[in-house]
Parts: sequence; C-alpha cells; structure tokens
Amino acid sequence: MTRPRVIAIAAALCLLPLTSLGQVGQAPSRTELAPGIFLFSTPGYGDVGLDGNSIAVLSRDGVLVFDSNGTPGASAAVLSQIRTLTDQPVRWIVNSHWHWDHWYGTETYQQAFPDVRVVSHEKNRQLMMGPALAFNKPFLEEQLPAYIQSVEKRAVDTPNLKPLLEADKAFFDQKKNVHLVFPNITFSERLTIELGERHIEVLNYGRGVTPGDTFVYLPQERILLLGDLIVNPITFALSGYPTEWLRVLEKVDALDASMIVTGHGAALHDKTLLRTTMEVFRVLLKEGKAAKAKGLDPDQAKEAIFPSLHDLMVTITGDRPPLNAAFKSQLVDWYLHRVYEELDGPLTDAISKIPVS
Ligand SMILES: [Zn+2]
Repeated sequence: MTRPRVIAIAAALCLLPLTSLGQVGQAPSRTELAPGIFLFSTPGYGDVGLDGNSIAVLSRDGVLVFDSNGTPGASAAVLSQIRTLTDQPVRWIVNSHWHWDHWYGTETYQQAFPDVRVVSHEKNRQLMMGPALAFNKPFLEEQLPAYIQSVEKRAVDTPNLKPLLEADKAFFDQKKNVHLVFPNITFSERLTIELGERHIEVLNYGRGVTPGDTFVYLPQERILLLGDLIVNPITFALSGYPTEWLRVLEKVDALDASMIVTGHGAALHDKTLLRTTMEVFRVLLKEGKAAKAKGLDPDQAKEAIFPSLHDLMVTITGDRPPLNAAFKSQLVDWYLHRVYEELDGPLTDAISKIPVS
C-alpha cells in the first residue's frame, strides 16, 4: 500500500491535501457567523482524514446542528463548545449527505439528547444505511490499517513520526467503534422548522454532488449552509450529477443570501466561488460533450479542456500549485468522467468508483 494510493482513497472520502496535524477530540475553531450562529471547524485527523464543518444555530427554544462531524470524538468537542454558549438542548441535527465526515459523529448528540431529531433527505438515509458503508469498507478494513502499519514501521527509525502515528491510530480507533445513527426524519423537497425565533428551511433541489443533497436556508439571516454542494476552495466532484448539479446551483444562486457556508473551509461572504464553480461546470458540460463527440476519452478531454479553464481556476485557487492540482483532479477530472457517464445513459443513485488516471 503506497501513500499516494491511500491519499487517493482518502480524497474520495472528501479530503484535500492536508497541512495541519489534528488529534481526535481537539477543540474545533469557532466562528460566529451571525448572532447565535456558529461555525465549528475541526482540524484534520493525522494525515488520513479531514473533517466536515459543523454549524450550530442557537435559539431560545433549542439548537439545530447542521452536520455532525466525522467521528464521535470530534462531535463531542463541538458539543462541549455549544454547552458553553447555551443551556438549551440540541433538538435537531441535519445531515447534508452520506460522506462519513458529515454524519459519523451523530451518536454524541443522541446520547446527550435522546429525543434529538435527525433529519436528512430520504435518499441519504437509504445511502447511509447500506451503499455508503460498503463504499467505506475497503478503506476502513484494508487500506487504513495497511497505511497505519507502514507509518508504524517508518516511525521506528523516524521518531518524529510518532505524533502522526498516534493521530492516525486514534482516528482508526474512532472509526472502528463508531455507533452509526441514521436519520429518523426524512423529507423529499422541503422541510420547514420553526425553532424559537428561527425560521429554518431544509431543502433539496435535486441531485448534485450526491443524490440527496440536503441544505439549509435561513432567510431572515440570509445564510446558506450548503454541505458539499460546493466546497471552499475546491469542489469535490466524485460521483456527482453534472447537468442536475448545475441546475441545483442555479436555483441556490437565486436565493437571497449574503453568506454561504460550505462543507469544508471558511464561510464565504459573497457568491464569487459559487458562480465561478458553476462556470467551470458549464465549460466542462459543453466542452466534455464536444470532446466525446470527437472520440476523445475522458483523460484526453481533460488535457484538451484544462487550459481553457485557467482564469476560472486562478479565481478559485489563487494560482497556488497544490490547489491547482486539486482543482484538476477533484473537480475537472472527476466531473468530466461523470459528464461522460451521463452522456452514456441516465445516472443511477449508486455511488460510482473513483476514476483512475
Ligand atoms: Zn465533505
């Protein structure tokens, strides 16, 4: 098992190149997005996992948490922060989609608040209860243990790898022992939650990055919580639904919002990243179709189209080389493969394999 392969697998589980070495249970960073609305960002797990953003919407009648982290340790660290902010119970969890880093921490909330309502799209519940577990299985049972063994061997001669090894092992331990909690309330298009003074719209506009993308709109506060419908900075396009996804984002763009919180990364204060990502999608849909008609395979198409995306890429990446590489693989390459699959016939709700290129 080589490291790049593990990283590729890890990337499939919603990871970007790692820069910080986090420990399970380490305090998340906290940002107050608006009065009583907090974004918690958890550091990565060693070099084997990145966590998703978790957002707490406080009210005088309880708390709603949007996405519940990737491990119980991480969600416990978030909950302990929430407890310093309010005496109110967490009444609602909303899970955006099936990727583990957005919902494997729900058990923390269920233990603390047995009546908590866990909401997600009906397709997410189906995916979480079967296909998502099957997708994660090879990583959890083969690739991750093998990778940890390789770090263990290297750490014998390189003692400064020990903290990394401990962090990787702690992550593995959490993942092995997680008690999964599935959504106990599902919806298909819209669920409105009136929570104290908050009016919270839980929405699905169709298939985007996954079949059941669930997002939250707070019209009074003009805030959108999008999950991985887009990611700051690089949207992760594995197994997405190219044409439908663009339509979803066009409808999202029509909502009146002054702040967008994505599934990873800092909150956005305008729609530049949303609109630039949509423009990348438009180019890839149009040029991918043309390339396929000319007989190019998806990898040839990627190389042919990539130069024309330069300006859009720089808007997204600031021309930083590691981000440019992520843009090319996680957005351009994976989206283009799905454009080809979509042209070959209707896409199902099954989770597709990671393209090898
Ligand atoms: Zn994610």
